[in-house]
This record gives sequence, C-alpha cells and structure tokens, in this order.
Amino acid sequence: MKHRVDAVRRRIEHHRLDAILVSSLKNIRYLFGFTGSNALALISASRCIFVTDRRYTAQSAEQVQNAEIVISEKDLLSALKNEDFLPDKARLGFEAVHLNTRDFLQLKNKFSRVQLVATERLVEKIASIKEAEEVEHIRAAGSICANVFADVVPLIRRGVSELDISAEITYRAMKSGSERNPFEPIVASGKRAALPHGISSGKKIKAGDLVIIDFGAVVNGYAADCTRTVVVGKIKRRQKQLIGAVQGALDLAEVSAKPGMTGRQLDAVARDHLRSHQLADFFQHSLGHGLGLDVHELPRIGETSNDPIEAGNVITLEPGVYLPDFGGIRIENDYLITGNGVENLTPFPREVVCVE
Ligand code: ZN
Ligand code: ZN
Repeated sequence: MKHRVDAVRRRIEHHRLDAILVSSLKNIRYLFGFTGSNALALISASRCIFVTDRRYTAQSAEQVQNAEIVISEKDLLSALKNEDFLPDKARLGFEAVHLNTRDFLQLKNKFSRVQLVATERLVEKIASIKEAEEVEHIRAAGSICANVFADVVPLIRRGVSELDISAEITYRAMKSGSERNPFEPIVASGKRAALPHGISSGKKIKAGDLVIIDFGAVVNGYAADCTRTVVVGKIKRRQKQLIGAVQGALDLAEVSAKPGMTGRQLDAVARDHLRSHQLADFFQHSLGHGLGLDVHELPRIGETSNDPIEAGNVITLEPGVYLPDFGGIRIENDYLITGNGVENLTPFPREVVCVE
C-alpha cells in the first residue's frame, strides 16, 4: 500500500502542502489496511506517522506496514503533537469533509504554528481509480448478490412482510460469504416502492405490488450495491410501460458510459430517455455513484456533477421512477469503467421477475 501513500504525496505536492492529516477511517483503511475504529495519520514527503490507541497495539503492528506506528496513551491529536516535525508556517492539509468541529478546534490549538488548509476529498480522488485487486473484491461481492437474489425471489409472495425478505437477504448474503451488509437492505412494496430510499417495514406484500429490492454484499471491505424489481401477480399494462422505460434508461446509460464524460453527461443520457417517456419528473435521484470501500464514493453521477468519469472507476447505474400512490421501479448494476466502455460486475438477470 506504499504506492497509495506515494500517490497522496504527489497530491500534497500538487496542492503545495507540506503534509496532510488523514482522519477518515475509510481513507486510513485504504492507505494502510487498518480496520480498527480509532486512528489518525500524518503524511509528509518524508514521514508517515500512524497513531492509534492501546486497544490496537497488536492489530496495527500486524496490519500497518507502511508507516511509523505510535500508540497513544491519551487522545490521538496529543500523541501526534508529540511527533510534530513540521516547520513553522508549514501548510498542513486536513480533510474538510471528515474532521468534526471539536477536532478541528483541537488541531488548531495544538498545531498553532502551522497553517491549516482545508482539502476536499484528496484521498477519495485517488481511491476512485480502482486497482485490479479491488475490482475483484467488488466482482466477488456482486456474485454474492446474484446468489442472494436467486435464493430470495422464491420467498417473495403475498403475505410475507418486507422485513421478512430483508432478514432473508441479510442471512443469505452472510452465508454466501458477505462480511456484513453494506447498508440495510431496502425492500419496498406497493405504494411504499414510491419512496426511493424507503426502509423495509412490517408491511405485507400484496398481489399487484411492485417490490423494489436494493441490497448488497461486502468482500474484503469492498461493497456491491444492486437493485432489482419484482412484480407480484400478473403484470399490469402501466407497470410494463414503466419497467420498459427504466430498462431502456439503464441500457442506454450502460452503452454510453465511457471515460472522458462527466457525471452530469452520463446522468443526462438516462434522464433524457425518461423525459421522452414523460417520466423525468418521477426520477428524483442521481443516476449513480462511485463504489468501493464506501457504498457512495467518487465519481458522483448526477445532474450537478462535474466529476470526470475515468478508466478504473467503479460506478453504479440505477435509474428509477417513483409514482406516488402507484409504486416504483429501480434497476441497479455495478460497472467497471474500462478504456472504452463498461464491464458489468453484477451480470445477473436484471429483467423484472413476476412471482405469484
Ligand atoms: Zn442500491
Ligand atoms: Zn446505489
């Protein structure tokens, strides 16, 4: 993981910083492989200091190979202050998205000789380009999702509650090798399927319902995130039209996605398709997002995103439509951006399934 820290060093230089304080545990995991719940890292051109507390003495010695490890007796910032090697007026970057106000004030107080500089997603930009091994973890998580969905479909029927299905997803995902749920599975049926991020409830599934199932799996820390929609009973004409429009939007986005686009350009491909079906007003969220150690990473694929789409990104595409009092449809797959297009990392049947 030394090459990841070296990539941070290149960014630091680019931003004319002398060092950066990394406080996001997700970023710490990405840079050092550390999976504990309390750590900070200070990275400069010549030094890399990793601070954690006594609970993690053995774990950090085992996991962190690419930093000087300091075990703190009190709070982490005080321990880091003892290691302070920064010259007066040095420019020290901090992670504006992650450092809370209390810690920021403490940092300002303890490192009063240096200039604090807010950085925006500096490590996240590096992490958005996946290495082959990371892609394999996401692919493995995706194939767990395929197994889980195949197992769970036969359980979806009238009278079963959304929470029942959510519990089955969680159980079967872990039995198939997922480390944990990357997020609580969403099982939203009938009118509740019109809530794009409604959580599973005790509502029982009824005939005629559309059921949105958004779930995932985690392998070596890396998440897959997919959504399928199921129809209970005989499919109605309006349901069929909506499903066709959403599938069309996904197909178009999938064949259009390539390096060099921005998030908003890709989003527009799906949104314009739904607009041609008079459904753009019912697609109220972004087309997708980057995926990795976090379920939501860079690049953002939405109406206002200027994030570049680059080879090596792993993103979701998840068009949906949500009609109040009617229900909703969403289909979501995970894709690796390749040199000239995409590779689907969740290539299990996406067609809407009808169950009795
Ligand atoms: Zn999802
Ligand atoms: Zn998603």
